[in-house]
Amino acid sequence: MMKEKCLCGNQIQMQFKDELGRVIDRLVTIKNVPIYYCTDCEEGYMTGPDCLQFADRVREAVELGVEELEFEREKGMEFDQVALNNFTHCKK
Ligand SMILES: [Zn+2]
Repeated sequence: MMKEKCLCGNQIQMQFKDELGRVIDRLVTIKNVPIYYCTDCEEGYMTGPDCLQFADRVREAVELGVEELEFEREKGMEFDQVALNNFTHCKK
């Protein structure tokens, strides 16, 4: 179990959330995205590999012409210690 902290010093907890992604003018929903949330300032974080996976899934959904897609983390993509990115940066 990853124990990471938010910039504010609070513990963050992983939650599965549906998140919107965008490619140019297309908006798609990616379901069950693993995001680490700070319960205090509500800042969201994602691991680097999950960040890339999120972008891939958004692109895939747009290519398939669907409005939503399951996140589906690839096997073996569990880490004990990884850098966390601020989630807003993953959406770009
Ligand atoms: Zn915080």
